[in-house]
Amino acid sequence: MGAAFMCGRQCAWRIFAFQQALSAPIAKLPVENSAAITSKRYRMDDRLIRDIPIIERKAAEHETENLHFRSFLKGRLNWSDGRLDAAVQETTDRVWEHIDCRQCANCCRTMQVEVDDDDIARLASHLGLTVDEFHEAYVAMAVFGEKVLKTQPCVFLDADNKCSVYDNRPAVCRDFPYLHAKDFRSRTYMMIDNTAVCPIVFNVWDELKEDLWRSRRRRSP
Ligand code: SF4
Ligand code: SF4
Repeated sequence: MGAAFMCGRQCAWRIFAFQQALSAPIAKLPVENSAAITSKRYRMDDRLIRDIPIIERKAAEHETENLHFRSFLKGRLNWSDGRLDAAVQETTDRVWEHIDCRQCANCCRTMQVEVDDDDIARLASHLGLTVDEFHEAYVAMAVFGEKVLKTQPCVFLDADNKCSVYDNRPAVCRDFPYLHAKDFRSRTYMMIDNTAVCPIVFNVWDELKEDLWRSRRRRSP
C-alpha cells in the first residue's frame, strides 16, 4: 500500500503508505477483438519509452499538459471510477508485458521507502536482527515523522538489480506503482509525479492520454 510523490524539486522521491484498499478487485473491461488487440500491442510496443533520462525529460516537458489531462480525468471524463480503474488496469497489463522491472529498478534506486512496524518486524526477523537493531541500522525519520529506509539507492538492492529481501520487502514496494489499486482518479497528482520515475507509469499515463483525451480532441469538431 503506498503512494509516492516528490515534495519540491530538491527533495527525494518517497514511497509513502496511504490508507486505501489497494488490492480490491477491479472489474475487467469487455474484451476487444483479437485483431484490435494485436494492432494495439504492436503500436504500444513501438511507442514505449524505457530510457530513464528521456522519461525524466519528457515528464518535465509535459508537466502542464499532464495537469490539463488530470483536470480532464477528474472533471470532464464522464466515466465512473470503476470504469476508469478497469481501463487503467487493462492498459497497465498491456504496458507491463513489455517492461522488465528487473532491468529497471529505478524506484529502488531513487525513491525513499516508508516502512511500518510490520515491515520492520518482518525485515528484522529475516535478517536475524532485533527490531531495535534493525531500526538503528536501517531506519530514519522523514520530514513528517514517518519511518523510512535510510539510503537511496535502497540498501537491499543488490548488484544484479534484484531485491535481496524480496519475499519480506515493505508493503509499499509490493504495491508500487499502484496502478492496479482502485480509485485511480484520487491518485492522479501522485501519478504525474511518478511519470518521472517509473517507465510503467510514464507509458500508462501516456496511453491513457492518447486513448481518453487526445483522440477525443482530434474527433471533436
Ligand atoms: S526493499 Fe527491495 S523492492 Fe523495496 S526499494 Fe529496496 S530493493 Fe526495492
Ligand atoms: S515499478 Fe517502475 S520504476 Fe520500479 S522497477 Fe518497475 S518499471 Fe522501474
